[in-house]
Amino acid sequence: MNFKELANKYQTPLYVYDLDYMTKQYEALKGAFRGRKALLAYAVKANSNLSVVRHFAKLGAGADCVSIGEVRRAFLAGIPKYKIIFSGVGKGDDEIREAIERDILYINLESDGELERVEMIAKELGAQARISIRVNPNIDPKTHPYISTGLHANKFGVDINTAKRMYIRAKNSQHLDPVGIHSHIGSQLTELDPIREASEIVADLVRSLQAIDIDLKFFDVGGGLGIKYKDETTIDPYDYAQAILGTLTGLDITVVGEPGRYLTANAGYFLTKVMYEKKNDDKRFVIVDGAMNDLIRPSLYNAYHYVEAVDKEGETSRADIVGPVCESGDFLAKDYELPALEHDDLLVIHSAGAYGFGMGSNYNTRGRSAEVAVEEGQDRLIRRRETFEDLIALEKEFLD
Ligand SMILES: *Cc1c(COP(=O)(O)O)cnc(C)c1O
Repeated sequence: MNFKELANKYQTPLYVYDLDYMTKQYEALKGAFRGRKALLAYAVKANSNLSVVRHFAKLGAGADCVSIGEVRRAFLAGIPKYKIIFSGVGKGDDEIREAIERDILYINLESDGELERVEMIAKELGAQARISIRVNPNIDPKTHPYISTGLHANKFGVDINTAKRMYIRAKNSQHLDPVGIHSHIGSQLTELDPIREASEIVADLVRSLQAIDIDLKFFDVGGGLGIKYKDETTIDPYDYAQAILGTLTGLDITVVGEPGRYLTANAGYFLTKVMYEKKNDDKRFVIVDGAMNDLIRPSLYNAYHYVEAVDKEGETSRADIVGPVCESGDFLAKDYELPALEHDDLLVIHSAGAYGFGMGSNYNTRGRSAEVAVEEGQDRLIRRRETFEDLIALEKEFLD
């Protein structure tokens, strides 16, 4: 990928996505479940650009959505309704209504209260809502606490006994159709054991539900497959599939996966230009035009991203790469070994294709970056850079 050319053509800061890499990741994971009824529902929140979602639609993927906005994106991008899943701990009445009206594959329920709302709204609509229940198997996924979701200490899902009660209630309701079971224990998972254990617990529940005549069609294992940011040992997709399938013997059930990061993270690059170098005592700072409002992962999770100084060589020294935002937490890297840099040198932050642009904001009245897709050697704009006019559009009319 010619980053310099892209930076000159589209300016910086800039997000660039390698769609062919996304295809490769999708095919690898899909291939691992070969011979088994399986659906990969792309977790839209990882990178919700319409063109990215459309890319996955063309590959045959479904979509896992965590707001009605994401459901609408999935529809716009051409994901068929029978491949769309709606998850999330706090769905509003309007969101539930629209999801039922749109007749998506199923709504993932995360509490008793939500089951009640969905039942009531389905009744109002004279519909039967397909549901699944998110089980929290109380497994430590051994990942960063902010992206751990499978412990009872986390807000997600319900415990096994609650889930069982909810299934029985759903089965007895005219307006609910329990079709699936769901668990998602965390993100950036690099160990197989917690995945296998969680899958076992959920599969046992499926069997005990069968015994009381509740036959589920979808076994939704969520997402969470980790990627290499630095030197992590990651899980091979084949081993991942085998670990899950190994818990499902004797069950005729479609496996649903909801990968996000695995599909897009290492397909994305964040391009930023050096503005200044400065030293406070011995501490070296490289000030760049990208900031925490563009890529918040370093500030939020202390996340590591590999940084490439394009066409730069020579002796390195440690520097903090910081943006122009007025926060000490505004950094893209800390104590990073970098060669001497000058105004307009290009830095490429790798692994920025998931939870990058989407977590961005307009803090400090900074317009969000443009996004560019590269496919078969061709680049194209898939979101234009935000302008000042865009940023004030919703306020201007109220100025007296
Ligand atoms: C965030 C999320 C995913 C995707 O997680 P990744 O770690 O990006 O694969 C899948 N399912 C649910 C319910 C989620 O909240």
